[in-house]
Amino acid sequence: MPELPEVETVRRGLEPVMEGARFDKVDLNRPDLRQPLPKDFVKRVQGKTVTGLGRRAKYLLADLSSGDVLMMHLGMSGSFRVAVNADERTPGEFYHERSRQRAHDHVVFEMSSGARVTFNDPRRFGLMLLVPRGELAEHPLMKALGPEPLGNEFDAALLARACAGKKTSLKATLSDQKVVAGLGNIYVCEALHRARLSPRRSAATLATRSGQPTARAEVLVTAIRDVLREAIKAGGSSLRDHRRTDGELGDFQHNFRVYDRAGKACPTPGCSGVIRRIVQGGRSTFFCPRCQR
Ligand SMILES: [Zn+2]
Repeated sequence: MPELPEVETVRRGLEPVMEGARFDKVDLNRPDLRQPLPKDFVKRVQGKTVTGLGRRAKYLLADLSSGDVLMMHLGMSGSFRVAVNADERTPGEFYHERSRQRAHDHVVFEMSSGARVTFNDPRRFGLMLLVPRGELAEHPLMKALGPEPLGNEFDAALLARACAGKKTSLKATLSDQKVVAGLGNIYVCEALHRARLSPRRSAATLATRSGQPTARAEVLVTAIRDVLREAIKAGGSSLRDHRRTDGELGDFQHNFRVYDRAGKACPTPGCSGVIRRIVQGGRSTFFCPRCQR
């Protein structure tokens, strides 16, 4: 499942060919993704200009000149291919390899920038919806989201309030999109390792009895921000070199400290621990039992 850095990498890959460009032609190769595409999708998108391409959590939000917002979500396996003449690339490849099978090309946008933008999604958990701009904040999918981890709103005090009295583990709490938006399995594991906090630790320990943030909450917020910024940078840097983005992975997996590293030595300086894999909530968690407490 793509996480925030991957979606931001996709946004940055689409921005130069979509922002300011008009949808000259919209082709739908099937009527639905995770949900049915709006019945009037082609009519509401074709001929409209993208006035801005933003992101909220793992949603891409294209503002259209009509006042609609095109909400796009990659789901489990979705990707965009950007083709300009003979040059084709897939922004946001990252840790997850993306499909190139033409049978899974579900939505194709011909942009006035000269780019063809193709949405490919073998498992079809992706999403494309149209929502009037004025209704976006109240849309159920947007309303359910917690703060952006890289935004000003997200800090130790806010995280502590969300964790106070919670019986659940830190891993489960940080994976909850209502607590903080956009984190998934990889970046929760990586942030907890940087903060030297065990994924099994009770979330309640990030707050004092009166709900104030403990030092752990401060450390964790910094770790979350750092790992996301570094991952976005790694994705972004691979986008600058076209040869590396076509069929090759982004860079950040080389920087994983715990994720997918079970049995390997812990990279924390001075720590002699070995990375362990456990299962929490049906998902793999990777951590160092020695330096993460
Ligand atoms: Zn360690």
